[in-house]
Amino acid sequence: MSIRVEHLNKRFGDFVAVDDVSLEVESGELVAFLGPSGSGKSTILRIIAGLETADSGNVYFAGQAADHLHARSRGVGFVFQHYALFRHMTVAQNIAFGLSVQGKPKAEQSRRVHELLDLMGLSGLGERYPGQLSGGQRQRVALARALAPEPQVLLLDEPFGAVDARVREELRHWLRRLHDEVHVTSIFVTHDQEEAFSVADKVIVINRGRVEQAASPADILDHPATEFVARFIGDANVYESVAQGGVVPVGKLRIPADGIGDGTPVAAVLRFYDLKFWKEDQGLARVVRTMTLGDRVKVEAVIDDGPVIYSQFPRRSSLLAGIEPGCRIHIEVTLARLYPHNSAAGITVATA
Ligand code: ADP
Ligand code: MG
Repeated sequence: MSIRVEHLNKRFGDFVAVDDVSLEVESGELVAFLGPSGSGKSTILRIIAGLETADSGNVYFAGQAADHLHARSRGVGFVFQHYALFRHMTVAQNIAFGLSVQGKPKAEQSRRVHELLDLMGLSGLGERYPGQLSGGQRQRVALARALAPEPQVLLLDEPFGAVDARVREELRHWLRRLHDEVHVTSIFVTHDQEEAFSVADKVIVINRGRVEQAASPADILDHPATEFVARFIGDANVYESVAQGGVVPVGKLRIPADGIGDGTPVAAVLRFYDLKFWKEDQGLARVVRTMTLGDRVKVEAVIDDGPVIYSQFPRRSSLLAGIEPGCRIHIEVTLARLYPHNSAAGITVATA
């Protein structure tokens, strides 16, 4: 079932939590709301769920206005970080809960419970109590419980926030697998970009109650629509400078800035992996540190007459040959995003 949200607004007192938000989720899509804490993600999700009312704006399910529908009538399944399982019920009873509320026959409940236990890799655990499960298993039971009544829409609000990093990764994998099996239209709220990018078909970046960009993970990385998105997503160097003679100077580094008028203040965003460092005695920067981070190496350098700059290389890259603390380097910018402060849209400058 598709979801469309139009011109949603919500205030708490004087505070604008949701500011003219419009967005679309296609039927069967898995979409992530990604943004910093306090940006309004949960509020938008709760309005879609019918748990919160908007001051203005509309929510449509499959093209039909849903605003007057009670949360219970919206066909929505939820998984929240703090939406705990019923401790005094077995795993099977937890999963069957929604079905028994609907008065579904026992045989049907049992069939559905077994199907979901299977699907979630929980076979054989139906008679356990939540206290006898690991954190990751509990969250899978929560997913199964939400899916049991076959909701039209699944809403997940930071569902994996309370488990450790390794289990989180496992749960992401479960969520994606599950979605590929059942194709229920899903919205997944997270402040963790890796989580959003690894799970979602489309990512909606939210900041200060507004939608900054709605696009595929690759598009968000390669074509960040706003300065906020460029700064927030991916590891990037960000410099404030002023365009001068067709370049944006950052210390001795010159970033080509065709078409930006002299004297225009610019934010330049250079992703770590869009930079190449070459060992070169006549270079324009000096390496300070190299950090080996598993499959990557991060290199910290200082630009002559300028700030610190980071780059990142695959661990085995030939570009790393001779790069060590103290050596002089040349810097090649393969891709830069420039945000003139007098215009809304950024400019991509490919220089390779
Ligand atoms: P997120 O989920 O992105 O962290 P929320 O939607 O929970 O953000 O909250 C957005 C902002 O609205 C926050 O500043 C939060 O404090 C405020 N807020 C949320 N719910 C309420 C409420 N019931 N009363 C007052 N302020 C609220
Ligand atoms: Mg939240």
